[in-house]
Amino acid sequence: MTSRHGSAPVTIVGGSATGLFAAERLARAGRPVTVLEGANAWSPEPRTLIVTRRMRDLLGAVGDRAVVNTINHFELLTAGRRATVALSEPDLIIERAVLVPGLAEQAASAGVEFCMGSRVRGLTATGEGVTLEVGRHGSTEQRLATTVVGADGTFSRVARAAGWPPLTTVPLIQAIVKLPPDLAPDTTRVWFQPDETPFFYWLIPESDEQGALGLIGEDGPRARRCLDRFLERQHLDPLTFQAARIPRYTRWVPPQRRMGGADVFLVGDAAAHVKVTTIGGIVTGFRGALGVADTILHGRTNAALRQLKCELDWHRRLRRPLERFSEDDYNLLLDALTPGAKGVLSTLTRDEPARVILRVCLAQPRLILLALRTLLSRSPRPAVPS
Ligand SMILES: Cc1cc2nc3c(=O)[nH]c(=O)nc-3n(C[C@H](O)[C@H](O)[C@H](O)COP(=O)(O)OP(=O)(O)OC[C@H]3O[C@@H](n4cnc5c(N)ncnc54)[C@H](O)[C@@H]3O)c2cc1C
Repeated sequence: MTSRHGSAPVTIVGGSATGLFAAERLARAGRPVTVLEGANAWSPEPRTLIVTRRMRDLLGAVGDRAVVNTINHFELLTAGRRATVALSEPDLIIERAVLVPGLAEQAASAGVEFCMGSRVRGLTATGEGVTLEVGRHGSTEQRLATTVVGADGTFSRVARAAGWPPLTTVPLIQAIVKLPPDLAPDTTRVWFQPDETPFFYWLIPESDEQGALGLIGEDGPRARRCLDRFLERQHLDPLTFQAARIPRYTRWVPPQRRMGGADVFLVGDAAAHVKVTTIGGIVTGFRGALGVADTILHGRTNAALRQLKCELDWHRRLRRPLERFSEDDYNLLLDALTPGAKGVLSTLTRDEPARVILRVCLAQPRLILLALRTLLSRSPRPAVPS
C-alpha cells in the first residue's frame, strides 16, 4: 500500500472512537485534518463497553478518564457448571459517552477541524481526487478530497461508494440492570446457552449498583426476545437498552483503495476490525486506526495492520469450533479448565488469541480433541429458534 499525497489534507468521515483517534494521530504528525460528523454535537448514546488493559497503552489519559469500573474475575456458567478465572491485570469498563467527547477534545487540541452536522451522502471519483457530497443544515455541499478515511461505522457510505463489499453484521443488544446481590462489582458473569445464542450472555458491572446484561444474536427481533426472556429468568428489570448492528469479521480486506485521484481508507467498524469471538471492536478499531494513520503518514503497509490481520484471523479460527458447540461441549470445556489452563487465561488477554490457544492447549491437551471432534462431527449450529 502506498499513499500518493505526502502532505495532503485528510478528510475523515465519522467522528466517533476510531475516527477521532486517527484524526488526532494525523494532526499531531502535522497533517491538516477535517472530521465530518453526521451528529450535531458530541453526545453519543451511552454504551457500556468492556475492553482489555491494552486500551490504556493505546489511549493513555483520555482512555483512563472514561473508565467507570474494573473487572478482576470472569465467572463462566453453563446449565450445570461454573468456573471462575481471576485476571492478573483487570479488564476495564468504559463509557463511550465519556470516551468520545474526550477524544474529540484531544483531537481539537492537536489542530483537527470539525464539521458537525455534516452527513456524507456519497463520493464521486474525479481526476484530482474525490468529491464528497455532504448534507449540512438542510443544504448540500461538495468537498474535494485526496485522502479520505471512512470511520463511519457498520453501514459506511464511504466503503460502499469506494467499492468495498457490504459487511456481514450481527445484532448486539444489552440492557442496563440493577446488579443482582450475588454478583461482585468486579466480576463479569458469562452464560453459555447455545440453544439461545451461538455466542453467550454477559453481565458486566459498570458500578457497584448497575451492569449491562446482553447478548449477540443472529436476528435483531429474536435477540431482543431472547434477552427479554433471559432477564425474566434472572429476575432482572431493564432500566434502559443499548443496541446496534456490529460487523462480523469474515476475512481480511485491505483497508485502502484508490478511487479517482484519491486514496480512500477504512477504520473501525467500517473496516470490520472486530474480534469475531466477542464482537468487540474498540481495541481492534484503535489498532486499525493506528495502522491506517501510519500508512497515510509513511506511505506503506505497516506492522500494525499486519499484526491486526493476524489477530483477527486467529479470532475467526477460534470461533469456528465454538460456532458448533453444544451445551455438553461447553460443560466439557469448563471441566477442562484446570488450574494450569486458568492460569494462562488469567495472564494473557483476548487480544493475543494465538498465544492463548497455544498455551491453553499445552496446559490442557483435551481441549484440542474437543475442538477437533466438534469441527469434524457437526455442521454449524442452525439459527437459534425464536
Ligand atoms: C451495545 C453494544 C455494546 C458493545 N460492547 C462492546 C464491548 O464491550 N467491547 C468492545 O470492544 N466493543 C463493543 N461494542 C462494539 C463497539 O462499540 C464498536 O466496535 C465501536 O464503537 C466502533 O467504533 P467506530 O468509531 O468504528 O464506529 P461508530 O461508533 O459506529 O461511529 C461511526 C460514526 O460515524 C458517524 N457517521 C455515520 N455515517 C456518517 C455519514 N454518512 N457522514 C458523517 N458521519 C457519519 C456516526 O454518527 C458516528 O459518530 C459494542 C457495541 C454495541 C452496540
